[in-house]
Amino acid sequence: LSDLLEHEQDLPSETPDGYHVPLMVNTGLAVDAATLLKSRIGGVGLYRTEVPFMIAERFPGEKEQMRMYREQLEGFAPLPVVMRTLDIGGDKDLPYFPIEEANPFLGWRGMRVTLDHPEVLMVQLRAMLRASHGIDNLYVLFPMITNVEELDEAVKLLDRAILELGEEGIAVRRPLVGVMIEVPATIYQMDALAKRVDFFSVGSNDLTQYLLAVDRNNPRVSSLYDAMHPALLGALVELSQDAQRLGKPISLCGELAGDPSGALLLMAMGFSSLSMNAPSLPKVRAAIRRVPLTDAKTLLREIMALDTPAQVRELLNRRMDEWQ
Ligand code: PEP
Ligand code: MG
Repeated sequence: LSDLLEHEQDLPSETPDGYHVPLMVNTGLAVDAATLLKSRIGGVGLYRTEVPFMIAERFPGEKEQMRMYREQLEGFAPLPVVMRTLDIGGDKDLPYFPIEEANPFLGWRGMRVTLDHPEVLMVQLRAMLRASHGIDNLYVLFPMITNVEELDEAVKLLDRAILELGEEGIAVRRPLVGVMIEVPATIYQMDALAKRVDFFSVGSNDLTQYLLAVDRNNPRVSSLYDAMHPALLGALVELSQDAQRLGKPISLCGELAGDPSGALLLMAMGFSSLSMNAPSLPKVRAAIRRVPLTDAKTLLREIMALDTPAQVRELLNRRMDEWQ
């Protein structure tokens, strides 16, 4: 089967009934290997900027960040690169910026940290904008947003960075701006968020953890951490419908997108694109190339009538076996 998958990798991620699902990659460090995929993907759906920050010895300066970001943007140009602003806290600590808290996942995390330290965010945004100058394939994504004021504040800082650079003689284009849907509160604020952004990106890893109140890294409760929970699937269906109603693209960049059965369900829900770690691309592409959209939609309808994660998995496994 793996020979077969490899041979399919240059073929479009399209269902037998002609429905195209753009596949994107998640990146963090060296781009060399990932850029080899350029002809096979729609771009970078999530560049986790905290990864290079985590291996540094101090906050990288504007020039240094600009070099890192340019490598990504140039490497994948003209494809879009979605750069997420620093998402530290939770389980991602910087050695030179320790955060000690009793409940790190409910604490000072992502946008909460960078809005309290606008000087850190401003350096990052300026570096991203400068790196994209002349290439213009930058998309900016804000993580861990819980309410619209945070988003307003983040967008204000982005606009300030653009203005500052303009005053310095660097006329950068305003990138498209997106918000991560990973805190359950945002599920119910799609209209308000849509007024402020160009696209949505669902972080299913955190949305699962927060919707189910299950620490994503605690082995004791790992059996409860399940993206196939009917509540999460229901939320994803609503999110996709809301985004379509609001006329904004919605992608998903958590692990669920890299799972072939998850990818088929997301396709059936109408997600605009799926972003995953590079090693997941072949199996997801193979699944999409084997299953007509109409069949995936039928499966989704059946799944949405089930009550438990176990029932969902049982039916999914049965269908996936039939589709082998
Ligand atoms: C997510 O939460 O699903 C996500 C993509 O972000 P991260 O895994 O980096 O928290
Ligand atoms: Mg997340």
